[in-house]
Amino acid sequence: MSTPIRPNVLNMTPYVPGRPIDEVKQELGLDRVIKLASNENPFGPSPKAVEALKQAVGDLHLYPDGATAALKKALSAKFDIGEESLVLGNGSDELIHLLGLVFLGHPSDEVIVGEPSFIRYDASAELAACHLVRVPLDRDLAYDLKAFSDAVTDHTRLVFLANPNNPTGGIVGRTDLAHFLKDLPRAVTLVLDEAYYEFAADDPEYPSSLEFIREGYNVIGLRTFSKAYGLAGIRLGYGFASPRVADAFNRAREPFNVNSLAQIAGIAALSDDEHVRTTVQMNSEERRRMAEQLTGHGARVFPSWGNFLFADFGRPSKPIYEALLAQGVIVRPGSAFGKPSFLRISIGTPEENTAFVTALDRAVTAVV
Ligand SMILES: *Cc1c(COP(=O)(O)O)cnc(C)c1O
Repeated sequence: MSTPIRPNVLNMTPYVPGRPIDEVKQELGLDRVIKLASNENPFGPSPKAVEALKQAVGDLHLYPDGATAALKKALSAKFDIGEESLVLGNGSDELIHLLGLVFLGHPSDEVIVGEPSFIRYDASAELAACHLVRVPLDRDLAYDLKAFSDAVTDHTRLVFLANPNNPTGGIVGRTDLAHFLKDLPRAVTLVLDEAYYEFAADDPEYPSSLEFIREGYNVIGLRTFSKAYGLAGIRLGYGFASPRVADAFNRAREPFNVNSLAQIAGIAALSDDEHVRTTVQMNSEERRRMAEQLTGHGARVFPSWGNFLFADFGRPSKPIYEALLAQGVIVRPGSAFGKPSFLRISIGTPEENTAFVTALDRAVTAVV
């Protein structure tokens, strides 16, 4: 007999990422493939980060700084928060895993997530073999914070809220969030996943997790270098928490969970405001254009504060997804989020977006 595997692990579904460019090229024999499926920065990483990495590769025989001191110092200065409130991870995905390890342990513990929202939250509850409570978004695909409040019980430990939400792109405003937090029992921690923070930060109604952490609420903010900073491949995420929670993360994490290249690239990228600013500006112009084009092709497009759009075609989107793929354009099918009539489309460079629109034109005429 083999060693038994925990049933909660066997019940987990492996994550299905956006299709890699090379795989699609090979499979379909295409020369040019455009990936608008994983909300990456289409303009690439900060040139400052690239330069710093070139200097750093000769030191790869050495272990990374396990305390990530220099990166913490840079983050602390940028966000005006004490280093004892910072947590760092191998992408914010790792921090989401750690949240389960740090907060969940009893089978009766409950975790609340929006539906649809970022799929990786489920894993933190599933690994801990505790209850995952899904609260559907409202008819306009906005978070229903009243329903979230109603779902909280004495067993609730974590509430995950992506702001902006992925895949829908919507945000929860400051007033609504403050109201929700006032009623939240002290034993519950609200995780504000701000992976798309930089894209939404210009909106005066958009709150930062830091505001609530400074006021002493049980809030953890998660950020990443994978989206606006263009460093998805290097795996670097960070978070803001109370010193007590940050200390718990520090105990539970692997000793070298942030590799040396990630630390060096992160510091350089943080100093490159220009790269983030042009990324965000291009994104908002192109997002407007893409929304118009999608609407013109019969889709209902939901307002987005991120670098992607969630579009409802009002009929199964799989044939459209496949017709786009056949033309070398990878998007994300809505079925991945339980919304089979939707596509999630990342905003690319102007050229990529134009190629998407051309392909969409053919895709929708081919399938109707
Ligand atoms: C992309 C994304 C992440 C993951 O970021 P990594 O730092 O690459 O692990 C986390 N949350 C949301 C909502 C995302 O869309």
